[in-house]
Amino acid sequence: MRIAVVGVQGAVEEHVLITRKAMKKLGIDGEVVPTRKKGVVGKSDGVIIPGGESTTISRLIWKDSIAKEVIGKAEEGKPVMGTCAGLILLSKHGDEQVEKTKTKLLGLLDVWIKRNAFGRQRESFEVNLNVKNIGLFPAVFIRAPAIVKVGENVEVLAKFEDYIVGVQQGNILGFAFHPELTNDTRIHEYFLKLAESNR
Ligand code: GLN
Repeated sequence: MRIAVVGVQGAVEEHVLITRKAMKKLGIDGEVVPTRKKGVVGKSDGVIIPGGESTTISRLIWKDSIAKEVIGKAEEGKPVMGTCAGLILLSKHGDEQVEKTKTKLLGLLDVWIKRNAFGRQRESFEVNLNVKNIGLFPAVFIRAPAIVKVGENVEVLAKFEDYIVGVQQGNILGFAFHPELTNDTRIHEYFLKLAESNR
């Protein structure tokens, strides 16, 4: 199995390491490849888009056609997971910040996203959240976005206060928080199981 981690900017290495750890736990023989260039995503069995700065990541993935490869993978039924800025990029409906910065989204998740939803007072924080199909999970939020509304094919996996912070739409997964910044591999294991069943 080969998992590609879009590595243009942000929390890339952390996703690579925790995905390797999750593979080991599940006894999957495979590799996890960070990539900044076109070609790797197209030959993968699943893709992760890390957090970082969504405007920057957007610009770089559209410039080098990685964006088109990600969309192609999603269409093939391979799992695509976005965390934090990665979730913003997967979304179909942006907010005024997305518009103002002319951030081009991938449009793979039928959700309405709000960037920096938790404001300046709560730049970063950690809470234990009940995540559907996973259980109680230590969720680390860093200048996180949130989902304000979902389309009918989107399953809500996690909520925090009035917001939706974890979703699944078939093979597409999105989390507003950073599962790669914990030692808990369960979300990555969940993603890998989707990859395994779609190989
Ligand atoms: N605030 C960032 C954005 O809007 C996301 C932060 C993150 O990925 N940790 O792009």
